[in-house]
Amino acid sequence: MWNAVLDLLFPPSCAACSDRLQDRDPAPFCATCAQSVDSIQVPYCTSCGEPFDAEGPCHPCARCLRHPPSFARARAPFVYGGALLEAIHRYKYRRAWDLGRSLGELLACSLDRTDLQPANLVLPVPLHPRRLQERGFDQAVPLARAVSRRLGAPMLPRALRRIRHTPAQTRLSGRARWENVAGAFAVPRPPQVASARILLIDDVLTTGATARACSRALLAAGASHVEVLTLARTA
Ligand SMILES: [Zn+2]
Ligand SMILES: [Zn+2]
Repeated sequence: MWNAVLDLLFPPSCAACSDRLQDRDPAPFCATCAQSVDSIQVPYCTSCGEPFDAEGPCHPCARCLRHPPSFARARAPFVYGGALLEAIHRYKYRRAWDLGRSLGELLACSLDRTDLQPANLVLPVPLHPRRLQERGFDQAVPLARAVSRRLGAPMLPRALRRIRHTPAQTRLSGRARWENVAGAFAVPRPPQVASARILLIDDVLTTGATARACSRALLAAGASHVEVLTLARTA
């Protein structure tokens, strides 16, 4: 009922181009924008979820074989590109905060398509307080909230803290990203995560350096296992 009232007051618009959505459009995108959103299909890395070009079975990628991640698996339903990249940029950098709801729904609805294990705790990847102040909101929280609702598992936005302000990952590459975030996360109250099966939520996964650093901190604090779900990942 409330959603119907909201839709009447604010007719739903495309998350990428802002055109008004028609009844048959695959929300949150209009039909045209939806064509540029690619789902990640098998085969992909069983560990970090990176999609492979060649056909064949899923297996660990070369990077995960060389440096096995601390998380059990990371999955993303979509490739970071096209209209989804545009929507995430609008959401994160152009303050289109209202997109949190529709992008969160998109992520929550994709859960069934993944091979993630049942989780009993959902955690958003946190921003450093200084970045939070600059940006005004924590982009992973609305996404984690939608997933938590879908799973019926609690979401704790402050169980994991970013204790070191790090340069934005987007300006760094490869090894620098790893060094940038190593030791940047902490768990202030370890009993909150002890023995928990955690699903860590973020908007985009690129090298996985942030997810690895978060996961290491959570496991050190006593979590039983950590999996990662992001809306998109680089292909
Ligand atoms: Zn559109
Ligand atoms: Zn991998």
